[in-house]
Amino acid sequence: MEKVLIANRGEIALRVIEACREEGLFSVAVYSEAEREALHVREATEAVCIGPADPRRSYLSIPALIAACEVTGADALHPGYGFLSENPDLAEICEAHGITFIGPSAEVLRLCGDKVAAKEAAKAAGLPVLPGSPPLSDENEAEKWAEDLGYPLLLKAAAGGGGRGIRLVRSPAELKTLFPQAKKEAELAFGDGRVFLERYVPEPRHVEVQILADKFGNVVHWGTRDCTVQRRHQKLVEEAPAPALPPKLRERISRAAVRLAEHLGYVGAGTVEFLVEGEDFYFIEVNARIQVEHPVSEMLVGRNLVREQLRVAQGKPLGYRQEQIELYGHAIECRINAEDPDRGFLPSTGRVWLHSLPGGMGIRVDTHIYHGMPVLPYYDPLLAKIIAHGEDREEARTRLYSALRRFQISGVKTNRDLLLSVISHPQFAMASLATDFLERIKLSR
Ligand code: ADP
Ligand code: ADP
Ligand code: MG
Repeated sequence: MEKVLIANRGEIALRVIEACREEGLFSVAVYSEAEREALHVREATEAVCIGPADPRRSYLSIPALIAACEVTGADALHPGYGFLSENPDLAEICEAHGITFIGPSAEVLRLCGDKVAAKEAAKAAGLPVLPGSPPLSDENEAEKWAEDLGYPLLLKAAAGGGGRGIRLVRSPAELKTLFPQAKKEAELAFGDGRVFLERYVPEPRHVEVQILADKFGNVVHWGTRDCTVQRRHQKLVEEAPAPALPPKLRERISRAAVRLAEHLGYVGAGTVEFLVEGEDFYFIEVNARIQVEHPVSEMLVGRNLVREQLRVAQGKPLGYRQEQIELYGHAIECRINAEDPDRGFLPSTGRVWLHSLPGGMGIRVDTHIYHGMPVLPYYDPLLAKIIAHGEDREEARTRLYSALRRFQISGVKTNRDLLLSVISHPQFAMASLATDFLERIKLSR
């Protein structure tokens, strides 16, 4: 492997470029016509325009990406997160063209991209899963399963992601109206209309485990993360290690994740997601890619996870065992999005003007923004991730608070003030959280 094409944009494209530099690899940026000036275009060894602003014709176009690899002689492709990162077809086509896809095999991606199949695999590996149905073909079938499982239930898209397509169903009447809606929405959003029912956990915590596996069957975990603070099932604040978990439970969850990775023959970095209810935990899905919140785990482990992805893809062994991984301190990340709190958090567009940026002891800012950067309506609203690391949770939390205060930009509306309220909320300070936290404290509208 010599030259890596990054099939992505924004902060994650920059992260991959920097990791390539550390690993002694050349990088190729791709960009849409709307992002000629983007930082990832300037920072990569070379850059290729792959189409118009509409992501379906640029960042999501497999033919354009493969052509860009051929033109530049890139022999590997890093998909980042979102976009095509979990697309098994891209992994397969890369392989057919002699391009190393930096991620798990097409087979593993296909399985993990189907929440029902992934739950089956988790069950087979001995992990606890929530009772649920198979994909449902019509309302009658859904009703029968609902009766068996018992309300309240969640309707979920088998191919879902990004918190979309999840619906709470409390009665047969609701099921009747929501079932066709959910099916249609899943078809539109994911090109796959399969939906299923799952037991609803009323006040869970979202706990996930970072796993990493090489091509020689070595699997390690990088500990737990808590992503319980969510808005509409989308993560907003993430931290590592997951707080307020008995050490034994934390260990059991981490081991379960490793067991599943071994069972799947997983290669590369990935995340196994769970819901925690009291002393019980349930597998919900695998994200077979790098995740937005990976930095909090890096801060604890002291290694660059994207570089680890590059190393594993080159066929290098991990070179360390689980016992050699020490998780130091505590880290919290928050996602600054360009969205307007006064308009239901709709994406906000415009030019970004930078006034003050955070820094200092224990602060890391992962961002692609620059003074005068246009924020475009076509792409994800994520502007920056602010990560604070400290010896303990309280130190990380106060550092993050100061850093957020110093994050001052204008030109677009952001969720910064909401994040400040979350970080300074007594319940957050005590780590007494459930996924309904934002709704309860009425900050999210
Ligand atoms: P993470 O667990 O890495 O935070 P998210 O679910 O927040 O993952 O998704 C990461 C990024 O990818 C986000 O920008 C999200 O909007 C986007 N995304 C994730 N899944 C999908 C999907 N199925 N379709 C479109 N966008 C998605
Ligand atoms: P996505 O692929 O969109 O990330 P997930 O299955 O990971 O979907 O669920 C996203 C979030 O939705 C979870 O973090 C949790 O807050 C909520 N959720 C999912 N399944 C359940 C469930 N069975 N009961 C309660 N909440 C759930
Ligand atoms: Mg998820």
